[in-house]
Parts: sequence; structure tokens; C-alpha cells
Amino acid sequence: MNLHPSQRPVRDILDDAVSGLRITAGDAHSLLVDGDLLDLGLAADEIRCRLNGENVATYNIDRNINYTNVCVYKCRFCAFYREPGAVDGYLLPFDEIGRKVEETLALNGTGILLQGGVHPDLPITYYEDLLGFLSERYPEIHLHAFSPPEVKFIAKKERMSFFEVIERLKQAGLQSIPGGGAEILSDGVRKEVLAYGKCSADEWIDVMRQAHRNGLRTSSTMMYGMGEDLATRIEHMQRVRDLQDETGGFTAFISWTFQHDHTDMEDVPETFAHEYLTTLAVSRLFLDNIQHVQTSWVTQGKKIGQLGLKFGADDMGSIMIEENVVSAAGTCYQMSQDEMEHLIVAAGYEPRQRTNLYERFVSREDTAPLAGEYRHALTPEKQDLVTLLPILG
Ligand code: SF4
Repeated sequence: MNLHPSQRPVRDILDDAVSGLRITAGDAHSLLVDGDLLDLGLAADEIRCRLNGENVATYNIDRNINYTNVCVYKCRFCAFYREPGAVDGYLLPFDEIGRKVEETLALNGTGILLQGGVHPDLPITYYEDLLGFLSERYPEIHLHAFSPPEVKFIAKKERMSFFEVIERLKQAGLQSIPGGGAEILSDGVRKEVLAYGKCSADEWIDVMRQAHRNGLRTSSTMMYGMGEDLATRIEHMQRVRDLQDETGGFTAFISWTFQHDHTDMEDVPETFAHEYLTTLAVSRLFLDNIQHVQTSWVTQGKKIGQLGLKFGADDMGSIMIEENVVSAAGTCYQMSQDEMEHLIVAAGYEPRQRTNLYERFVSREDTAPLAGEYRHALTPEKQDLVTLLPILG
């Protein structure tokens, strides 16, 4: 995509977006280059309120379970992977994954996000067995699992189409697919950071297309700040918007900034809050066909994450019972359900726990019986979190 900022005044672009007219990629590029942060935030907030109401901001409780850190790829931005055969490589036993699910349920959780490592030795039957084990033992937990690079690798290994792999996994219990592995959907950048091999921009889009065709919802993501130019961020958003026009299958857009500690790209300058909030607001203005936009407290910290609710985001994401990938790159934030709700209240919204697909709110009465059933599974540190849960009632 040969993208340039449009020549239109920023004020006209914002007025169009707020009045419901679709803005172009060139317009969005202009906003990134010339937009005033507060003007962008006010406009993005209007759209966020129109799409999701003025009063409520949501969050969810789920757990990222990285079933393996063994990976055949070596993305330069990744501090998490271990090469096959590494002494500190792991593949979690099913029972341990089950224990993590029980801890999630005990903390009022409703879902898990299962994601590797792209392990070279696992056949599709491994993934089917894992999904079958979890959906049979814990039918109440939502299984959001296996991002496009994993689906692509299984398809290649098993000589199957993306659609066939997704169909098999869906039959085994898969309920939705996470948007991981997108980073920046521009092959020039992907080649630069060694992410092209795990999946090209077209392949990422096509896995999502086949998932949507198969009736599965997915999230969409963008990780930026790896030295790419602003035009490629808009190119990424354009690809996401185009597929959403075609299928309507994305639930949300989730963007975050590259965390560079312990990666092969430690010399890349950090992306700071001003740029994060600008990009967040522009994503809300440009992605007029995606209902939910999430703010990233995990990479930005709690206060900037909270501020994101005034820059177009309607959702704070998960309380993060466990997170291994971003924390491997030096970012280690966690919060309790109460703290999440306090942050949302302080920003001026009613907090609502939502399900993984945003299809309904969850009350503590809904989750309390399950939480009680599984509380024995908690480690002592997690017990502290649970004792705080009833305080807000
Ligand atoms: S980002 Fe994913 S695919 Fe890339 S090296 Fe890390 S674990 Fe492997």
C-alpha cells in the first residue's frame, strides 16, 4: 500500500468520523501525523459512546495459558520462545493446564486463552485431545485458543487447509480464535522482524477469514512500535477493516506497544503514552465496523490503561491472572478484580465483567458457585485475591 496523508484539514476528518462517515486510510494517516491528542480523544470518545453506551466500561477475567514455550520460529521481538531441545523448553501436562483452569474459575473467570510457541512435534490430534479434555472436564470455561501462526503450522504439518484445521478444532471444543501473531500486517515489516515465516499478512487474514466462515468469532490485534512507519500501522488497520466488512467476525481490536527487554530488538526506542493514546484514538475513529476497542493496561501501566477509556476504548481487557509473553519482555503488571473495578469507576463508568465474546455481562452471583467449587485449587497467593472479591458486592 502506497499511503500518504490526505490533504484534508484534520478538523474536517474528525467531523466526518463523528457524524458517522467513513474516513479513508489517508485521512487516518493524517490524524496520526497531525492530529491534536485531545481532539482525537474527544472524537474517539463520541464514537465509543455511540457504539457502546456512555455509562459502562467492561473487562473480563481469563487466563493466558501458554501450553508450550517451544517454538520453531525466532521472531526478533519475542523474549518468550525457546528453541526445540532447549533445557528450559516446556510442554505443560494436561493436568497442569486443568489446574490453571480451576484457579481461573475460582477467581470468577469465564475463559482461557491458550497459545504457544509453535511446537514442531505436535500433531493436530494433540490440539484436539487438549480441547476435548478441557471442554469435557470444564464445560463452563470458554476456550479461546490457537492463533493464526499455530493454525498455519498445523495445516502445513497435516497437509490440510486452514478451514479443515479450524473445523477439526471446532469439533473438538474450540470456541474462538485469538488475534495473536498479527503484529503489523505488512510483509515488509514482517520480514524485517522475522515474523513473515510464521505467517504472512495474507495468511493471518486468511486464517481469520476461514474462522469467520466457519462461524467462529475472533479478536484482532496490532503490536506496533518496532521501528515501522506510521503508514504501515494504517495499512494494518485497513486490512482488518476490509476483512470485517467481508465477514463481520471480529469481536474487538486490541493494540499494544512492543516491549523490548530481553529481545533481539532492545535498541528500538520505546513508544510512550502520547503515541499510544494517539494510535488508540485513531484506531477507534478508523475501525468504524468493529464494536469494541480495548485499552492495554498490561503494556502501558494501570493509569494510562485507564486513560485509554477516554481515548476510544470501551474495554480494559483481562485482569491477567497469568501472562507470560509480555512479562518475558520486562512488563509485569497484575491486578485484582476489585482494583480493575475501582479504576473503571474512577474513570467515570460502571464496571461490568463480560464474557470472552462480549455477548453478555457476568454478575458475581453467576460465577460465585463455580468459584466456590474450585477454590481449593488456588495457590496461597491467589487466596488473597479471593478474599477481596466480595468487598464491592
Ligand atoms: S512470537 Fe510466537 S511464533 Fe514468534 S518466536 Fe515468539 S512464540 Fe514463536
